[in-house]
Amino acid sequence: TSGPAAEPATGPAAAPAATSAAELVRFDGVTKRFGTNTVLDNLDFSVAPGKHVTLIGPSGSGKTTILRLLMTLLRPDEGTISVDGEYLTHETKNGKLVPAGDRHVREVRKKIGMVFQQFNLFPNMKVLRNVMEAPVHVLGMSKDEAEQRARDLLDLVGLADKADAYPTHLSGGQQQRVAIARALAMRPQVLLLDEVTSALDPELVAGVLDVLRNIATTTDITMLIVTHEMSFARDISDDVLMFDKGRVIESGPPAKIFTEPENERTREFLSAVL
Ligand code: ADP
Repeated sequence: TSGPAAEPATGPAAAPAATSAAELVRFDGVTKRFGTNTVLDNLDFSVAPGKHVTLIGPSGSGKTTILRLLMTLLRPDEGTISVDGEYLTHETKNGKLVPAGDRHVREVRKKIGMVFQQFNLFPNMKVLRNVMEAPVHVLGMSKDEAEQRARDLLDLVGLADKADAYPTHLSGGQQQRVAIARALAMRPQVLLLDEVTSALDPELVAGVLDVLRNIATTTDITMLIVTHEMSFARDISDDVLMFDKGRVIESGPPAKIFTEPENERTREFLSAVL
């Protein structure tokens, strides 16, 4: 894995607006290669504020790479990525767009919350502190405010009674719900969900998906989702993007994509997974 500053990205010389108000996340001409393997190929897409967009497609089609680019674990070889009106990949210096420095990347990344397949909670901290930690230490929130917010979020994910438990005393599903609360505690503009139920025992999946459905309907947070749970994707998504070989080959509302896909590859993929 390369650090944020390791691979300079190229970009336009002038400094155009990163996004319009109608776009919270925007990929513009994004190409990502690993050696000779072009994993994302001149990709353009955007996500409007408050929308829930799910990426589907065969294994290896580039979905996780998109999330890793947004997490700034990777940088594109070409193109720009912006979040909430600011470039993640670039910053403006003397009126020109130049590859973003670490400090700029850290600032823009605060707009992005992430939940991974592995929950990665701090094992030595109680649940409440897991949720309070970043707001206090990264955002500089007062402890009282962070605690109140953490308790509200634990309530939202159905774990108000687990505030004083250590993560190892919780089930995988409960740990993942804490991880969701922890991500939301930073008040991100967009929440990235990367196969968040893939590591769970089957009987724990529904509880986590119910929590996410509840968050999707009761908050205005924008979501970008990679999941193999197709019925969840159908329920939660405003839009579905079907990927194949690093390109979006079909997109639209779930009622359209899941019931009358136009592309042959989409039909094949869905008949294999549904
Ligand atoms: P998906 O999430 O759709 O399964 P990925 O984004 O994980 O697809 O992977 C897309 C392609 O990129 C695959 O061919 C994969 O082998 C390749 N790839 C992903 N990460 C790396 C890496 N760090 N180094 C080399 N190749 C990678």
